[in-house]
Amino acid sequence: MRTKIVAGNWKMHKNAEETEDLLNELIDRIPGDTDVRVIVAPTFVNLASAADHLEFTPIEVAAQNMHQAESGAYTGEISAGMLKSVGVNIVILGHSERRSYFHETDATIAFKTDAALQHDMEVIFCFGEELKDRQSGNHFNIVENQLRDGLFHLEEKDWEQIILAYEPVWAIGTGETATPDQAQEMHAFIRETVRQKYGSDIAENVRILYGGSVKPDNAREIFSKPDVDGGLIGGAALKATDFAAIVASA
Ligand code: PEP
Repeated sequence: MRTKIVAGNWKMHKNAEETEDLLNELIDRIPGDTDVRVIVAPTFVNLASAADHLEFTPIEVAAQNMHQAESGAYTGEISAGMLKSVGVNIVILGHSERRSYFHETDATIAFKTDAALQHDMEVIFCFGEELKDRQSGNHFNIVENQLRDGLFHLEEKDWEQIILAYEPVWAIGTGETATPDQAQEMHAFIRETVRQKYGSDIAENVRILYGGSVKPDNAREIFSKPDVDGGLIGGAALKATDFAAIVASA
């Protein structure tokens, strides 16, 4: 039985005060004894205070990105060790916005994953095809390549720290969601791809989240699919009522 996970990616939203307000609203709305793992990813500048704020709550905190080096002349960047030092143990890597706007490649994301694992962090590894790939029928190839190039150098033991997030790019922030059957079809394919490389134990245990316009009114049906282990939520994570409703659907 895989624990469901609902993670909120706040992207470049919410200043310090707004972050505190949203966290307080989430603490009020999400039951202390929830059996869903709930994760939020505020911006870098608010991570330390968020980690403090959430310390005695069931809500965990994640970073939206990090650099692969330990430290050095990388202006504007943040390392895994720095995140750990303020109580952040989870990082989202490979988000499609990082891939497209900041030109992150599978190789870069693989290095970042290694750096996070060296610091014993959990990685929410995002991947998914663009609209043109789905329209040309190439979506399974694209997803398999992203998985292989980003993660298939890992050792078996590393997989305890990996959470997969399938996010079809055409569904992110567009209001267009993959149908529950499209999500299930791809999640089953992803699990099978992991099985072929690493065997059944790892494939059955790895959590595969769906991301792409998940909202309170579609979450339950998507999350009910056997290979969907929860969601990575963008827009709807910015409103406490919506996010709490999505958590309750998981
Ligand atoms: C995301 O950015 O990871 C995402 C899934 O966004 P949205 O829910 O807004 O589509």
